[in-house]
Amino acid sequence: MFTNDITNRFQQLETPFYYYDLNVLRNTLQACQTAANKYNFHVHYAMKANFNPKVLQAVQSYGFGADCVSGNEVKAAVEYGFGKDKVVFAGVGKSDREINYALDADIFCFNVESVQELLVINDLAAAKGKIANVAIRINPNVDAHTHHFITTGLEENKFGVNVWQLPDVADTLRNCKNLQLLGIHFHIGSQITDLETFKTLCTRVNELSEWFEQKGFNIKVLNVGGGLGVNYYSPDHDNVADFDAYFKVFSDFLNVKPNQEVHFELGRALVAQSASLIARVLYVKNGLKKNFLVLDAGMTELIRPMLYQAYHQIENLSQVAEAEKQPIKYDVVGPICESTDCFRKDVELPESFRGDLIAVRTAGAYGEVMASRYNLRDQVESVYSE
Ligand SMILES: *Cc1c(COP(=O)(O)O)cnc(C)c1O
Repeated sequence: MFTNDITNRFQQLETPFYYYDLNVLRNTLQACQTAANKYNFHVHYAMKANFNPKVLQAVQSYGFGADCVSGNEVKAAVEYGFGKDKVVFAGVGKSDREINYALDADIFCFNVESVQELLVINDLAAAKGKIANVAIRINPNVDAHTHHFITTGLEENKFGVNVWQLPDVADTLRNCKNLQLLGIHFHIGSQITDLETFKTLCTRVNELSEWFEQKGFNIKVLNVGGGLGVNYYSPDHDNVADFDAYFKVFSDFLNVKPNQEVHFELGRALVAQSASLIARVLYVKNGLKKNFLVLDAGMTELIRPMLYQAYHQIENLSQVAEAEKQPIKYDVVGPICESTDCFRKDVELPESFRGDLIAVRTAGAYGEVMASRYNLRDQVESVYSE
């Protein structure tokens, strides 16, 4: 929600920039921790969603762990004070250098995505005289019913070990003296809004945890990943995800033994609503069939619409008083030399003019961190509510 004070402040600033509402961020983090504590669930923050320093500081201060997908993220987690007993390292392509770094940092767990990776981690750990804690990322073949670009839990995806490969995994684990199996790990996709999907996931986790236990393994950690969606259509009225309902599904449907811990890896749901991309209208182009608003921000600042066909609410902050009048349809586009550099077609906005401030909402997850310098653009700046 942008008050006049905030909009006046924006007027003084050069655009484009990300605006972080730290109040929204803290409310979200608090709501998640409160809900998770109710069930004694452990939440790791999926750092790839946003590694802005202020965001990491805030997340860390609420006691979350860190879910990392690169060696540099592991390094950042350690530097930002996430306890090493709360750092997990996932990713389908960990390099030897990254694995060695994580071994030296004594992280909590490697989430391992193939038999070959198990063998490599075992060798590297042996060379250091260490035992590496591992969880097996299993591809549960659950359809996340989300956009096919961001689904990860189907057999056809590159992630995780398929169920038919598990006997091989079990043999490998028995033979690898420098690996300790901690648990099993899942992550079926992102922006999941239908909680039924997580119910299906629970059923699969129960079956697979049972499978490992029957093979004589002790499964201490059930890591069910992240993926909880947010409301991109109503960023002001629904700006904190329903963590209670989400965790309740797992509490109701996951079989958790007394010695087991349940771990989550939430990214988007913790940070998405805390930021907007603020841009200015550079040009208004009226065509015969189309009107274009050309912004000073594009796919170099926020690539989600172009990469995943993602929806973001777009608002004209300079014409709020006119918002009730007959709207005009604009294709809201960026300045980049690519036809796909369009935030959305046929956006209904009040009549808009050169210099107007535009907010692209719900941009706190996979926004600033995916910015690029394509076209030799400046690195996008960030501005904070305090
Ligand atoms: C990206 C990712 C997450 C977080 O996903 P969100 O949809 O942002 O919650 C969690 N776990 C793994 C392994 C990931 O790659």
